[in-house]
Amino acid sequence: MTNKTIVEKFAKELEGQLILPGDDAYDEGRRVWNGLYDKHPAGIVRCRKPSEVIAAVNFAREHKLVLSVRGGGHDYAGNSVCNDGLVIDLSLMNKVEVDPEKKTARVEGGATLGQFDAVAQEHGLATTTATVSSVGIGGSTLGGGSGYLLRKHGLTLDNLLSVEIITADGNLITAGKGENEDLFWAIRGGGGNFGVVTSFIFQLHNVGPKVLSFQAYFPYEHSKEILQFYREFMKSAPEEIQCYAFFLNTPPVEPFPEEYHGKTTCALIGCYAGNIKEGETAFKPLEEFGDPFVKVFQPVPYTEIQKSFDPGMPKGLRWYTKAHYLKELNDSTIDILQEFTDPLPGPFTTAYLEPMGGEVNKKDSSATAFPHREAAYSLHIFPGWENPEDDNQNIHWAKTFHKALEKETLGGVYVNLLSHDEKDRIKAAYGINYERMVRIKKKWDPENLFRMNQNIEPKN
Ligand SMILES: Cc1cc2nc3c(=O)[nH]c(=O)nc-3n(C[C@H](O)[C@H](O)[C@H](O)COP(=O)(O)OP(=O)(O)OC[C@H]3O[C@@H](n4cnc5c(N)ncnc54)[C@H](O)[C@@H]3O)c2cc1C
Repeated sequence: MTNKTIVEKFAKELEGQLILPGDDAYDEGRRVWNGLYDKHPAGIVRCRKPSEVIAAVNFAREHKLVLSVRGGGHDYAGNSVCNDGLVIDLSLMNKVEVDPEKKTARVEGGATLGQFDAVAQEHGLATTTATVSSVGIGGSTLGGGSGYLLRKHGLTLDNLLSVEIITADGNLITAGKGENEDLFWAIRGGGGNFGVVTSFIFQLHNVGPKVLSFQAYFPYEHSKEILQFYREFMKSAPEEIQCYAFFLNTPPVEPFPEEYHGKTTCALIGCYAGNIKEGETAFKPLEEFGDPFVKVFQPVPYTEIQKSFDPGMPKGLRWYTKAHYLKELNDSTIDILQEFTDPLPGPFTTAYLEPMGGEVNKKDSSATAFPHREAAYSLHIFPGWENPEDDNQNIHWAKTFHKALEKETLGGVYVNLLSHDEKDRIKAAYGINYERMVRIKKKWDPENLFRMNQNIEPKN
């Protein structure tokens, strides 16, 4: 019997929606954010409630099918879809409920960050989430979750209080303080290795409704002094400030002057998530620095700043990713950044620095499964292009750039920034916590049912 026939049988058992090859919804259902991947699952289960997830987990286990779990579908490595197996699609499980008294939110496992932020902001609340609104809360939280609030409030997973999770044996359990604590530790950094999270409970904080947005775009030739100034600025910046340093192609739109359209620019893009007046003072040194050709410095709704990178990262293009953690931003790193960023290979290509520090670095590296608490920056090399014929050129650029930086880095990498061809770096992503994660994997998923992820194999 083929897997297709096996999965067709499942249609008779399942209450929910099962999408099969040939169905109208199939092509849209198997498509993910990264157009580099074109996988053909035997079926896609669009779950509406935990009982349907349990049925799919049990069916896949009993029939030895490859199983993948899709939250927001933004995995750079394309792991939330599979070939010839079963996909659990959580996108209909996207409810967000806020308890304004306790300042907590219950977020279903398939919600997007935009859905989460929108409901939390109705109460003037938020917690750290990643910076593109269509990213899923599932994958981003389970790997880490960095964004504008990271230095003030830690990673998304640092704000996680508990989860409801369906484990490989098909049981729905709670993991949190005092309940299945080993599992709770492991899911905070271990990705989808340990089960399907159907809901998360998060601690929220007072944020917004407006935050101070800062953007400055500089002519490329000044990038060395800009990055040197930026590195000193970030060393003493208050935790309310998060500020990214980007190399990108200047968009060919207003308000960018025509002479810069399509040329590489070095841009500082940040936010002060606190009192606006205090933010103006804190940002002043950056605001007064250099001679940017575009500068925007104004209060904006928090929900808006959380969508500001959306247009630059559209669904369906081809994307590749390479990343490093840096202990510092030294001059030789800046020189290598300059060497590789003019020109950038694809129209949507960027390379950027995300400062860590603040709350995220206060925890011990083994407090949660996410280990990279000592890094000063996460560096992301991120080509984006349209034409399959350009695959090799873009991927080669990213790999060469990445290799050139190797000796300047800490050797670790953010698990959510790993690509599909980086199996040899999985241990570096889990770092000092890897062996403990293997032991927990052996206990909760000894047969490795959940392996469509940056996989921790349940063996030594
Ligand atoms: C445009 C873009 C911008 C990004 N920006 C940031 C950023 O600012 N900060 C940051 O930290 N990261 C960022 N990321 C990386 C992002 O955190 C990861 O790609 C993340 O895995 C996406 O989660 P998802 O649910 O959308 O992905 P999916 O592809 O659905 O899932 C990713 C992995 O998580 C597993 N998974 C998803 N949901 C669940 C669940 N509920 N239970 C169990 N397993 C689950 C999947 O099986 C898969 O292995 C960005 C990614 C993209 C594409």
